[in-house]
Amino acid sequence: MSITIAIDGPSGAGKSTIAKEVAQRIGFTYVDTGAIYRAIGLFAFRHGVEPTDEAAVLALLPQIELAITLEPDGQHIFLGDEDVSGEIRRHEMSHYASAVSAIAKVREFLLDTQRRFAAAHNCIMDGRDIGTVVLPNADLKIFLTAHPEDRARRRQMQLAEKGITMPYEQVLRDLLERDERDSTREAAPLRQAPDAVLLDTTGNTKAQSVNLVEKLIREKLADVL
Ligand code: C5P
Repeated sequence: MSITIAIDGPSGAGKSTIAKEVAQRIGFTYVDTGAIYRAIGLFAFRHGVEPTDEAAVLALLPQIELAITLEPDGQHIFLGDEDVSGEIRRHEMSHYASAVSAIAKVREFLLDTQRRFAAAHNCIMDGRDIGTVVLPNADLKIFLTAHPEDRARRRQMQLAEKGITMPYEQVLRDLLERDERDSTREAAPLRQAPDAVLLDTTGNTKAQSVNLVEKLIREKLADVL
């Protein structure tokens, strides 16, 4: 049986940066589930389908061949034969991903892929509903959060690293809109699982948060690590 660690939380809380680094330190696979929602969003975008148009998005699902692969530099996402790992990071795909992820049947469609992956690898899986829905029996659940202003600043920096300049106010507005949609949707809303450990990373450096999460994992899973 594989060992699984679920990390959930809102956009920009540092989930992927922290999870990726900690996974490397403890020799686990890092799985970013946001990427698969982004891939569905990208598919809709390419077919000229509005991501909020539930019927049109659902009509696309049978055509989607989605795969998660592990490469030396980490997880890659394929749509058919095409590696879309770079393209799904485009800023517009955040909105597309958030909109398609509110559709219950889209979430159902992706559930099996996520569970099969977790069953095959010791992993840290990050997302919005990993501890509540995808892996309710995860060995450890962490809910990572931070003040919206902090998260927007981090997000703005991440975009800048990719050469995208965006005003802080716009980044904050987009982030609050996604938070609102992710936490109020009916299907698997963003929520802390009752048995998750809450970690607030407001004001932390990346190194502080990474060390904190690693310590927590090593304490909780001392008998298996
Ligand atoms: O984490 P990331 O920002 O890449 O996720 C993009 C969007 O995908 C989120 O805003 C959220 O709406 C959705 N998502 C989700 N459940 C997950 C992971 C991501 O609904 N497990």
